[in-house]
Amino acid sequence: MKKIKNKLILTVMVIVLASLIGVAGQAQATGSYTTRDLNEQLVMATLWIQTSAEFRALCYQSFNLARMNLDLFLGSYAGTKPVAVIVDADETLIDNSAYEAFLIGNDFGYSSKTWTSWMAAARATPIPGALAFLNYAKSKNVEIFYVTNRKMVGYEGTEKNLRALGFPYVDKKHLLLRTKSSDKQPRRGMVAKDYEIAFLIGDNLNDFLSVFSTKSIADRFTEVDKIKEIWGKKFIVLPNPTYGDWEGAIYKGNWGASAAEKNKMRKDHLKRWDFHP
Ligand SMILES: [Mg+2]
Repeated sequence: MKKIKNKLILTVMVIVLASLIGVAGQAQATGSYTTRDLNEQLVMATLWIQTSAEFRALCYQSFNLARMNLDLFLGSYAGTKPVAVIVDADETLIDNSAYEAFLIGNDFGYSSKTWTSWMAAARATPIPGALAFLNYAKSKNVEIFYVTNRKMVGYEGTEKNLRALGFPYVDKKHLLLRTKSSDKQPRRGMVAKDYEIAFLIGDNLNDFLSVFSTKSIADRFTEVDKIKEIWGKKFIVLPNPTYGDWEGAIYKGNWGASAAEKNKMRKDHLKRWDFHP
């Protein structure tokens, strides 16, 4: 009886093992491309933010420009409204590249669950030059409004993070997280009612105007070109190669595409040198 039982267990184990090998073989045969594979593509962009001094130099350049703009603006401003600067938070004032690095090597992409934990951890670090500029603005009585698409679930962590780093005006009036819409225009409009907005700082075109929203790559180019004199003046852009609406444009807004599909869409958009050595 015992022998028969052992034989049965052995047979079941062999069947399970064979089917596992079969599944693995199949996956290899169809070349299944996982999120872990796709996350490998984040390595260079994340490293660029974390290790290139060029990134730091670009950030300082942006905030030096911001200071110059503010001085110019205040020098000629004769209005009665108080002056404000509107800023985005993520990848504009604070660096979340450690969250991106956490995705690398894992078989999952960005999710609101892990992002919520990251916000609560309050571990983002300041973007070079951001703190000095915002505190300079404060010294000139210019108020800062943080218009970010972090959701309200992250309010406490965001407030804690920004305050701990020493950013000014971090309170319920100035820290405007996303409540209903990801469109920032209604929040910008709210600020504009009572303040003269000197300029805006962000890393994503939606931080400046809603006209860029859900546009194709070609249309985003056209819209940016239309207002080419504005960049560096009314709109100051920080570099963010890790994520943004530029990525959504590659997928034509289909963020739910599989890792394999995203990989294909990315590669299909490369402009290649047609050379056959
Ligand atoms: Mg941002």
